[in-house]
Amino acid sequence: MNDKRRISILGATGSIGQSTIDLIARAPESYDVVALTGGRNVAALARDAIALNADVAVVAEDSALPALREALAGSGIEAAAGRAALIEAAQRPADWVMSAIVGAAGLEPGLRALQGGAALALANKESMVCAGPLMMQTARDGQGTLLPVDSEHSAVFQALIGEDLTAVERIVITASGGAFRDWPLEDLEKATPAQAATHPNWDMGQRITIDSASMFNKALELIETKEFFGIDPGMIETVVHPESMIHALVGFNDGALMAHVGMPDMRHAIGFALHYPERRALPVERLDLVTLGQMTFRPACEMRWPALRLAREVMETGGLSGAVFNAAKETALDGFIEGRISFPRMAGVVEEALTRFSATGGLIDAEVTLDNVAHADHLARQHASEIMRDGP
Ligand code: NDP
Repeated sequence: MNDKRRISILGATGSIGQSTIDLIARAPESYDVVALTGGRNVAALARDAIALNADVAVVAEDSALPALREALAGSGIEAAAGRAALIEAAQRPADWVMSAIVGAAGLEPGLRALQGGAALALANKESMVCAGPLMMQTARDGQGTLLPVDSEHSAVFQALIGEDLTAVERIVITASGGAFRDWPLEDLEKATPAQAATHPNWDMGQRITIDSASMFNKALELIETKEFFGIDPGMIETVVHPESMIHALVGFNDGALMAHVGMPDMRHAIGFALHYPERRALPVERLDLVTLGQMTFRPACEMRWPALRLAREVMETGGLSGAVFNAAKETALDGFIEGRISFPRMAGVVEEALTRFSATGGLIDAEVTLDNVAHADHLARQHASEIMRDGP
């Protein structure tokens, strides 16, 4: 009998994908790799598909297919390209699937894998922000299992093992504060994408690192917390913790606060999801408390990080507002990266897009289905582009 676990990695060429491959490659005898997918990085995708002997490698970019075919020639590994091929690969039977495509593009592939009955390790927080009720319902219907991979949500998930959710008083999500946490507010207007993409503690992809500096990443995580754990938004707090050693805390009704503490290394949360429900040894550095010496905390100021205020509004509104928030954020982020808008303007664009969308009568309350999310996403991107074009 073949007792290897069938594994797929969506977004294999990215930061989370590579950390996942690092863990899988340490025990190749335990896994059958079904599908690896990438966006456009053919060289890395082909290298890893060959090393892990995957069944299929898929690039999202259609025009990259000839290059992928050439890189895989003689390996016996199937090459495919385009959105439909990506979805088809995500649906191939697998026991465990890593959802690590960046942005709203990761929603449908992850959802399809979940519907196919896989345990879905969810790094793609946008799935929960845009379609939390749909993801949770799919998991509840018994079609698959959802496991959090965002370090904060993995921390909360672990702190809740054996606990009763009704005894939870609050969930505290920590934030490093990103690249500009100590900058004078008036300097933010001149911040460049390169400066924003330098994270003080975590080694991550470009987009999420810039989102850390603006705290749009934390905003997404607050919404994800509400959706994942089904708790009241008023019970979710954020605190700036520059050392990033505590990833989240859960406060209970007896006053106890359970913290998840460890070195900032995503292989912990990925490994926890990979081996769940077991806890197994992982190759992560151990935290030496004496060397660390101290941990500090500061309030998360909504003047500096208006994304946090917007996240509260989205959590209260619910419905499709998460999809609008995320799509407007992704569009504004493109605008910042391409030099069309300033760093602080991103929050303004998202706020205006949310306001415009709310004015389009009833759409925000529509049922959270894949089609409605796609529609809201499309409209929000249009609004955000217009707002950027019209200027402040
Ligand atoms: P990266 O930017 O490093 O990687 C993104 C991956 O998605 C790459 O494989 C990329 O392919 C692929 N991709 C990009 N666009 C598309 C598309 N349109 N269709 C299909 N594939 C695409 O991101 P991260 O690994 O940092 O983040 C991935 C997800 O995990 C995000 O949702 C992020 O918020 C979340 N996350 C990340 C953490 C981290 O530490 N990095 C921590 C917690 C959550 P290619 O590179 O080949 O173009």
